[in-house]
Amino acid sequence: MVLLPKLVLMAVDVLLTNGTVVDHGEQFSGDVAIDGETIAAVGELESQVDAETVIDVSGKVVIPGVVDPHVHIDEVPENRAGTYRAETAAAVLGGVTTIIDFAFQGRDRTLSDDSSTLLDGVEHKRSKADGDAYVDYSFHAVPHREEPETFEEFAAVVDAGVPSFKMFMSTYEVGVSTGFLVEAFEHIAAHDGVAVVHTEDPDVCEALTAKLKREGKSHPRHYPDSRPDYAEAMAAEDAVRMAQEMGVKYYGIHTTSRKAAAVIDQFRTDGSQVRAETCTHYTVLDRSVHEQQLNYPKIAPPLRTPDDIEAMFEYLETGTLSVISTDHSVYHREYKAVEDWWDSPFGANSIQVSLPILHDELVCNRGYSYSFLVEKLCRNPARTFGMPQKGTLEPGTDADIVVLDPETEFTVDSDRTASNAEFSIYEGREGTGAVTDTFVRGQRVVADGELVGEPAGEFLARDPPSWEH
Ligand SMILES: [Zn+2]
Repeated sequence: MVLLPKLVLMAVDVLLTNGTVVDHGEQFSGDVAIDGETIAAVGELESQVDAETVIDVSGKVVIPGVVDPHVHIDEVPENRAGTYRAETAAAVLGGVTTIIDFAFQGRDRTLSDDSSTLLDGVEHKRSKADGDAYVDYSFHAVPHREEPETFEEFAAVVDAGVPSFKMFMSTYEVGVSTGFLVEAFEHIAAHDGVAVVHTEDPDVCEALTAKLKREGKSHPRHYPDSRPDYAEAMAAEDAVRMAQEMGVKYYGIHTTSRKAAAVIDQFRTDGSQVRAETCTHYTVLDRSVHEQQLNYPKIAPPLRTPDDIEAMFEYLETGTLSVISTDHSVYHREYKAVEDWWDSPFGANSIQVSLPILHDELVCNRGYSYSFLVEKLCRNPARTFGMPQKGTLEPGTDADIVVLDPETEFTVDSDRTASNAEFSIYEGREGTGAVTDTFVRGQRVVADGELVGEPAGEFLARDPPSWEH
């Protein structure tokens, strides 16, 4: 008797079949197989796998889950409305599967909480997320107490899986001096971590804010003039120059202007130690939205000019800007609708609509490839912040996967998002592209555009990233 060779089929849980699969530098028609929490295989798989569930994704685009490294959730309990459950539901509905939130040294961003350590801040945020997150989550530690003891906390924070530190060079109460920054950079470098800095020159912003108030510039259209592009560029230059001197990995967060991007570009000589992001809103909105939306789009740094939007694309193309994040921040309307808008808080939400909007603007309107979108939203943020198992469809990595229908039209309607925020700076914006399915470590949490899964997100302990090229 002759035994014929038998084709052994690989048993998997889920097969996404007949999609347009997009990963690092590649786009092809094919399938993605998921087994357990990981990606089992990618390619022409139908004759090779035996899948428990087959989902036909023909006509749709399959990308890695979006990694958003700049998200604020439940940060200041008295005025920020976001909860982990609501905001991460919004995240997965918008194709985001991993976030990096912020853990302040003083719990709940309070300066008076001076017995709290950075590690306490991390534990505090972990307890808020635990059991309520639909996405995997990590944190940037935010040191803001200017005393030498703060630096002694860094080692424990890095050991706890938090190797990035965000500091504010700004008018915020949690802002720190350049003197503190330079020392912090030295300590972060010693632990191989990443320094993340909000760069706006506080003196310039404070003086111009006072001047505009004095002059009675009472319409929010004047708000961007209180925090001009050159104040951002000045602070960016200070920060990135000090970072270079200290040999620390530097990440310029929410870059908004041609002038600031040019500064970062100038220091990014070999790309190895200096990186930067912009945010969704700086690529699609300019300051003119204040005419209609008054102070609701009051964010910091502010929205700029149409030329600055073009600059964001120029620097995204060169790679000086390698990531697009959301800077998602959540408020009920009442916190923005204060009597004197100068007193209203900074920030706007967008995590659920960011991917559709960027799909529409980058791919449909500006002709960028899906691969470009995946680099900026998935792969680069994952690699920049030490998450090699995220932001890719490589077999063996986490099965964080998004299915995008590139034909479905959308209109942004803040009443129909899962976020606790009650307004959107994109309200009424129309475009093309919708998230139909989202998988988080193999679990289908969004199916046909509806939330169907449970919050099974986990804290992601990160190693210090290697930025070698
Ligand atoms: Zn932010």
